Amino acid sequence: MFARSTCSRLVLRGVLNNGRNNNKLATRTLSMAPQASSQGVVLDKYIAQPTPTTTQQQQQRLPNDVHDRNDLYEAEEERSMAGVTASVRHDWTKEEIAEIFSLPFHELMYRSATVHRMYWDPSEVQQCTLLSIKTGGCTEDCSYCSQSTRHKTFVKPTPTMKVQEVLEAAARAKEAGSTRFCMGAAWRELGNKKNAFNHILEMVRGVNGMGLEVCCTLGMLNAEQARQLKEAGLSAYNHNLDTSPEHYPNVITTRSYQDRLDTIANVRDAGISVCCGGILGLGEEESDRVGLLHVLATLPEHPESVPINALVAVEGTPLGESGDIDRVDAFDMARVIATARIVMPRTMVRLSAGRLSFSDAEQYLMFQAGANSIFNGDKLLTTSNPEFDEDQALFAKLGFSGKPAHKGPLVAPAEAQGEVEITHVSGSSEQRAPQFA
Ligand code: SF4
Repeated sequence: MFARSTCSRLVLRGVLNNGRNNNKLATRTLSMAPQASSQGVVLDKYIAQPTPTTTQQQQQRLPNDVHDRNDLYEAEEERSMAGVTASVRHDWTKEEIAEIFSLPFHELMYRSATVHRMYWDPSEVQQCTLLSIKTGGCTEDCSYCSQSTRHKTFVKPTPTMKVQEVLEAAARAKEAGSTRFCMGAAWRELGNKKNAFNHILEMVRGVNGMGLEVCCTLGMLNAEQARQLKEAGLSAYNHNLDTSPEHYPNVITTRSYQDRLDTIANVRDAGISVCCGGILGLGEEESDRVGLLHVLATLPEHPESVPINALVAVEGTPLGESGDIDRVDAFDMARVIATARIVMPRTMVRLSAGRLSFSDAEQYLMFQAGANSIFNGDKLLTTSNPEFDEDQALFAKLGFSGKPAHKGPLVAPAEAQGEVEITHVSGSSEQRAPQFA
């Protein structure tokens, strides 16, 4: 059972039935205010008030820290609602995932939408903004990427943006409704770029100080760099696996799948939340899509965030020039999103690059499949993306609201209303409606 205090701090009480807290009443307290930091940069003009939430929403927020949140659920075995059962598992076999992936489309959509409702508020969709802070000139050979020096594309390399320019962009993104700001640099790895790294740490502190969730994607990281980023206030690190281990060497040859997994482990060990997903349209088979989801769903901890991208074919890149790659359609996207939602039910699934090529109705299909985040702004690194205004109109049309920054997800309304049956490790079963008294 959960309880709420009447002040601005939320107290969650839960009877934890696990190894560490067997049958003890555990109490957690979390601050509802964003962590503010103003070290190193001029922030005054950018610090805005925390995104307002309704009292109801504040009452039903779970801890933001994913470890705290998962602790609350350690005793939980599975959930079921309307004939659909789901659980957070790490022992999925490829065959089990392939079976889900291959369900008739209508059945897959029913199951994923039901799982989504058991764990999330389906009307809450996070808006994120991705800014390229250092564009082009990358020595890697990713065959989809416009920023590689190995491909002749429209992209001209630019130096790293100034800290103040980045903070201004973050402030604009916040004003437009974003609650997560991601900074990307076209590098193989952070390596020995000391000056640039110091500037990035300043950017992280500054964006964190605005109350936004801060994410970076800077290529490969070592453990010490991950630690410093965490200390500066980094919320999440994006490092995509792109595709299955088997197909990966057909797409990238300058670094290995294991290199990617090592960076993800460094990020996880530093206590930063992991954002890791893939791209559809790289010439992969359906078995590679299942293979990617299998790697993600069998990591020791599921990524808190899984972006699903559709290839934006850029002229001059090997994949952009290849004539024999089928275009990714909305059904392909929805099938992968739905499978991700079912096998990683507590993960944010982000509808990412390629959104511009899908109609509003097609995007709705993807939200219905379980996507609960989009990237907004007219650019995603170097490729086009829907404008802020178009997304506002889409949100209004679909009845969505944005997810506040630095606030854990809501207790799913279906759970709050007692529609979700929860089975605990001990075998007990209950219809649970959290109490906020
Ligand atoms: S995807 Fe990243 S690592 Fe690969 S070429 Fe582009 S910028 Fe470099």
